[in-house]
Amino acid sequence: MKYRVNEIFRSLQGEGYWTGTSMVFLRLSGCNLECSFCDTAHESFTEMTVSEILEAVHRVGGPCRRVCITGGEPLLQLEESLIEALHACGYTLHVETNGTLSAPEGVDWITCSPKGIIKLSRADELKVVFTGRGAPEVFLKYPVPEGRRFLQPCDTGDSEKNAAILAATLNYISEHPCWRLSLQTHKLIGVR
Ligand code: SF4
Repeated sequence: MKYRVNEIFRSLQGEGYWTGTSMVFLRLSGCNLECSFCDTAHESFTEMTVSEILEAVHRVGGPCRRVCITGGEPLLQLEESLIEALHACGYTLHVETNGTLSAPEGVDWITCSPKGIIKLSRADELKVVFTGRGAPEVFLKYPVPEGRRFLQPCDTGDSEKNAAILAATLNYISEHPCWRLSLQTHKLIGVR
């Protein structure tokens, strides 16, 4: 099988539980949704075999031993053979998904950033993009360990709107303390 790979690069995880941790990002192309606030250009791709992906992950990753598979929607493509190959090389595997598809066995950490009806059977953290409207409590019925429900202010690209959304997010968390704040810290510090 060949994967449609948008990009492979090393950076710091900017969001959620693992914020600040060095990771190799493997961005797979394509998504099953079209969110109006999507800030990821994931459409272009190069077809790569598992061996070619491993070689690129080694090359850009250096000593880093965590790989975050993201997208687009990575679960459209991810199969156990890639998971097994990355594990065999000593990598811990994270996946960031919109939650609308089921995940293959073996993923070490699943971040569900729900954008529709959740079909995942498990997630290790929930990261809800908050626009200041809507009701994040609808996601409370989805089980994740305590302290791993994140509310992340939506980046609209408009600083005035962003300030209002941040204020609404802080207010919501104050009133609903089971949520934690997730910021897109990579944007704040100017890294990818
Ligand atoms: S699910 Fe994520 S990648 Fe897909 S369109 Fe929505 S924001 Fe973009």
